[in-house]
Amino acid sequence: MLSFFPTPYPDEILYSVFARYHARSGNIKPDETLQELFNSRNIIVRPDLPYNLSYLIKNLPLLSQHTLESLIQKHTLYPMYAVFMPDSKSAILGYMKGELGTYIYRGIASSVYLPKYFRFCPKCLFEDLHTFGEAYWHRLHQTPGVLVCTIHDVVLNDSIVPIWNNKWYQVGIASLENCPISNVTRNYSESTKEWLRLIASDIEWLMTCDFKSLPSKELDWFHIQYIVLLIKRNLATLDRQVYEQGLRQKFLSFYGSEFLEALGINVSNNNINLFKIFRLHLE
Ligand SMILES: [Zn+2]
Repeated sequence: MLSFFPTPYPDEILYSVFARYHARSGNIKPDETLQELFNSRNIIVRPDLPYNLSYLIKNLPLLSQHTLESLIQKHTLYPMYAVFMPDSKSAILGYMKGELGTYIYRGIASSVYLPKYFRFCPKCLFEDLHTFGEAYWHRLHQTPGVLVCTIHDVVLNDSIVPIWNNKWYQVGIASLENCPISNVTRNYSESTKEWLRLIASDIEWLMTCDFKSLPSKELDWFHIQYIVLLIKRNLATLDRQVYEQGLRQKFLSFYGSEFLEALGINVSNNNINLFKIFRLHLE
């Protein structure tokens, strides 16, 4: 049993809590930390959907108030995956609780791209240092599609800590050293910033909403909603044939290439995979 476990800060990603535990534990070898937290020296500590979490819960100090559900719901990217992958919701939860977490990445979660480096908001960084005496990685800032801080309305910076790092010993905590403020901040046009604000707020809402009480929607439900909207805009026929060229043009002119490129969508590539979501699987 652990003698202590750092209390997660508001919207702190669980990975950041593990990194803080490692830094405070005094452990020299990173696999000692893994053994203490997860009963295994060989697991990969994933930033978005960590696994072996039922072992972690059993290892927590006696009076710990944490539950598996609250850690997953409030401190991992699970809520975002769960909204868009209704069929796989319970499978993801099962993997995160148990030892088979690596299977998550071979299927459903393999097409979601996280940022290259942990991101931070310079204003949040200083506020956290002031309020808590230390910095931490915010979950929302690491979520795909979120490029601005919804509290301070500033563009997020890249830290120097790679987000995908299979080597636990290179894990980095959020700190002034790891978060160089002098990094050149990306500059976006006002219209792109407006889109970035909107998408960041929407994602924040998705991440913090409690969808448990709502019935799960199958993927085809989402497909049909989009097709109906396209038909209303004369971008699809009644028998669900999408006018791909027209849709592509409207999509690009509506969002603008700067915004799409900011999200990592290569607009010069004629094969933008816009149309996957319109493919039905009703048969
Ligand atoms: Zn901020």
